[in-house]
Amino acid sequence: SMEYGPAPEDDQPARAWLAEHGASFGHFIGGAWCAPSSGERFETRAPASGDVLAHVAQGDAADVAAAVAAARAAQPGWFALGGAARARHLYALARMVQRHSRLFAVLEALDNGKPIRETRDIDIPLVARHFLHHAGWAQLQESEFADWSPLGVIGQIVPWNFPLLMLAWKIAPAIALGNCVVLKPAEYTPLTALLFAELAHRAGLPDGVLNVVTGDGRTGAALVDHPGVDKIAFTGSTEVGRHIRKVTAGSGKSLTLELGGKSPFIVFDDADLDGAVEGVVDAIWFNQGQVCCAGSRLLVQEGIEARFIAKLKQRMATLRVGASLDKGIDIGAIVDPVQLARIEALVEAGRNEGCSIWQAREVALPNAGCFYPPTLITDVAPASTLAQEEIFGPVLVTMSFRTPDEAVALANNSRYGLAASVWSETIGRALDIAPQLACGVVWVNATNLFDAGVGFGGYRESGYGREGGREGVYEYLKPHGWTMPLRAARVVREGGAPAS
Ligand code: NAD
Repeated sequence: SMEYGPAPEDDQPARAWLAEHGASFGHFIGGAWCAPSSGERFETRAPASGDVLAHVAQGDAADVAAAVAAARAAQPGWFALGGAARARHLYALARMVQRHSRLFAVLEALDNGKPIRETRDIDIPLVARHFLHHAGWAQLQESEFADWSPLGVIGQIVPWNFPLLMLAWKIAPAIALGNCVVLKPAEYTPLTALLFAELAHRAGLPDGVLNVVTGDGRTGAALVDHPGVDKIAFTGSTEVGRHIRKVTAGSGKSLTLELGGKSPFIVFDDADLDGAVEGVVDAIWFNQGQVCCAGSRLLVQEGIEARFIAKLKQRMATLRVGASLDKGIDIGAIVDPVQLARIEALVEAGRNEGCSIWQAREVALPNAGCFYPPTLITDVAPASTLAQEEIFGPVLVTMSFRTPDEAVALANNSRYGLAASVWSETIGRALDIAPQLACGVVWVNATNLFDAGVGFGGYRESGYGREGGREGVYEYLKPHGWTMPLRAARVVREGGAPAS
């Protein structure tokens, strides 16, 4: 650890919460802790140290059925409360998150391995913002969505890269509009969802509105299969998303998918190069590159390529990799040894395909724990593995282009379509390029900007559906089935048509 600089963040409150539960958790169903029906539990570890943090329940079909039943029982009453009352609950959840923000930030950093600076300044404030924003939509339900109903019981499955933020993106719109939820957190990072469920209960959220069932992919599959679920909202890998789409086909369940990406980061020769270098740092080294919309493909215009890469390497040499509770680090731990091995294998595949791999000598890795250094890859052919596959780690691949048309063609040469970032000081050029990029969001001279008020989601194999904004609200509503027949009946009567 460091001999100077700020003291590491105090983890005592998070350790105390774990100890309060004997470092062993059940599911949170119908407002209470429930032991797993199988009795089976698994470990969740701190990737920065390898320490076991707690044992959590492995959910099976019986646990999922109990959670779906609790959500089903709660849903009519939850909707009947009305939008204003539901809004008050969402405001209470936002305040609860704000009040416990330090505890959430530390627990998240411990369980995921990401820097405390990021959970404290980015993840947790955005969680609160999401509940505040959707409280507003709840208040508007009777006026704006009078002809729409909630879907009912929503099964939500989230990944480990932003555990609590993905929970918020999922549950805030769902419960705001009168649905009840069964949420399955990712197996590497279940702790903040469990803390959230417990504190939401204490903040007065009615029993059964939010149920958390932990476990691995088998638990997710049981939730997807349960006939009492009206919709599945999934964020995770394209592979699992494709599987869920297959198994829900013909079931009548609604589905939205937020999947992987390989987002281009395009730098034109008239860009502010120093600004663009900072953009790259944020695009690919934020959250260790474990970001669905990470700017993982750097496309640089030929004339400035050498200069830009030199500047980037200089900056990479200053990045600090370390333990999540160290306030001075830029890059934390990779979430799990399995993910680390995946990153290593992909970089090796790139080496075998003739790519050049560069890592700064100056960047030291901690001796223990699960770490990977910031990595820059050049000599990448557009069709090669590393140009096409999502690495989901702190690894940036680089290609160059000559003309704007070539930049667009390279950028769109992907099965994904989640995000893109365009850097140019000529606004006309940026605004000409942006609409030609086949992806859900384009940032100009910026990257990784999120807001609860703006719909986020992908095209192509990055999935479909939107989270956030008005478009995200409609993902949790359906039109009333009875409006049309009633109007038709009135027209018939007024028209004096003979009764049948
Ligand atoms: P993953 O698909 O392995 O797991 C995601 C979740 O699905 C986990 O909770 C997992 O337990 C569950 N799951 C696994 N198999 C399942 C099955 N057969 N049925 C139901 N559920 C199952 O993905 P991951 O490795 O946790 O997350 C990384 C991926 O998530 C990356 O591809 C990333 O791009 C993507 N992601 C996308 C977004 C987005 O908004 N588009 C956001 C974050 C992450």
